[in-house]
Amino acid sequence: MRILVQKFGGTSLSTVQAREYVLEHIKDALAQEYKLVVVVSAMGRKGDPYATDTLLELIRQNGDALPAREQDLLLSCGEIISAANLCSLLHAAQIPSAVLTGGQAGIQTNDVYGSAQIMSIQPNRIHELLEQGKVVIVTGFQGRTGNSDFTTLGRGGSDTSATALGAALKAEIVDIFTDVNGILTADPRIVNDARPLYKVSFSEICNMAHNGAKVIHPRAVEVAMQANIPIRVRSTFSKEEGTLVTNLDAIKTGSNAVDDRLVTGIAHFANITQIQVASAEGQYDLQLQVFKTMAQNQISVDFINVNPSGVVYTVFDHEAPRAVKLLKELGYDPHYLSGCAKVSVIGGGMNGVPGIMAHIVEALTEQDIRILQSADSNTTIWVLVRNEDMIQAVRALHKKFGLHK
Ligand code: ADP
Ligand code: ASP
Ligand code: MG
Repeated sequence: MRILVQKFGGTSLSTVQAREYVLEHIKDALAQEYKLVVVVSAMGRKGDPYATDTLLELIRQNGDALPAREQDLLLSCGEIISAANLCSLLHAAQIPSAVLTGGQAGIQTNDVYGSAQIMSIQPNRIHELLEQGKVVIVTGFQGRTGNSDFTTLGRGGSDTSATALGAALKAEIVDIFTDVNGILTADPRIVNDARPLYKVSFSEICNMAHNGAKVIHPRAVEVAMQANIPIRVRSTFSKEEGTLVTNLDAIKTGSNAVDDRLVTGIAHFANITQIQVASAEGQYDLQLQVFKTMAQNQISVDFINVNPSGVVYTVFDHEAPRAVKLLKELGYDPHYLSGCAKVSVIGGGMNGVPGIMAHIVEALTEQDIRILQSADSNTTIWVLVRNEDMIQAVRALHKKFGLHK
């Protein structure tokens, strides 16, 4: 049985017109004789009646006092409304279909409400419905605990629902339909001449996603990579193929083979705080104390730099007041700078190539942008800049590495 998973994001389902395009993609897949599983996100974005942010706003008005378990119940409604709505559209078009919630589709998670992890998938009901010739619509972003409580998988989690179902069903491919023509060399909202990438490896895109390229959720790519199920990221509003995300062998062979690229793309995310803690003369336990305290208080740390004179690291802006308070309670006098952004230069082929850092420094210096911190790995170089310099930094790096169209 050839199974295809199609996932449609919020903007792809937000208007009657957008849903007409969705219907066309569903008809195309059925015409190719695929057994079809359609994963949906909540309809629309902030401000739209049934969008996830709108549901969150509902309880924010009451002082955000809803416990995490009940908040997940509330958030799950967005995807349920969306799925039922699409089901009615398919029935009107004489296409047999049925809706399953994440739990009904057999997606079992742990009970970390708000960012639950999928523990297992038992897709029997999906198989039964597919055998009956139905399109199976599954609500994205959610699962259920062993106690049958609703959970959600973290913002952007419908992508993960789709690839996890793709893996469990041994789908031929997972199509992620969104509002852009695939994965581009940078966020097109910032870089207007960003170029679409046609074939990329799981690890390149995992890296881009972890560093803020919000077009796909990083966990979704990891899941697809483990199961070796290719993903196509493409636009709901066109018939173009978009970006194929697959394993390294596949991108280097066959038609459209891609040679090692030096730099794949530029990613960014804003609103982080740089914290510096200096160690006193002869003090050896500072690093342990600082990072243990952050871990015990579930504050996630990034961009860590440890040296004999102290430690430097970043936390999300919203965690910064708590982090600073904890450090003060330990007797330290931390210096901190909020409103920073991490800009990442990501490449499959930059390993060992000299001069990349020099190019980065040159690009940013030409724009009078101060680098507050930097770090590198085999495949990525990160720089920390101020939020107000972020857009200019992304554009300058994009240009310096010749990524434009
Ligand atoms: P959906 O609702 O379909 O899941 P998202 O808003 O989560 O859509 O993701 C699509 C958005 O991701 C695009 O509108 C685009 O602005 C943004 N984006 C960020 N980085 C990239 C990139 N490198 N390539 C394409 N889109 C990107
Ligand atoms: N509706 C959820 C969100 O807005 C999940 C998703 O869109 O992937 O985060
Ligand atoms: Mg998304």
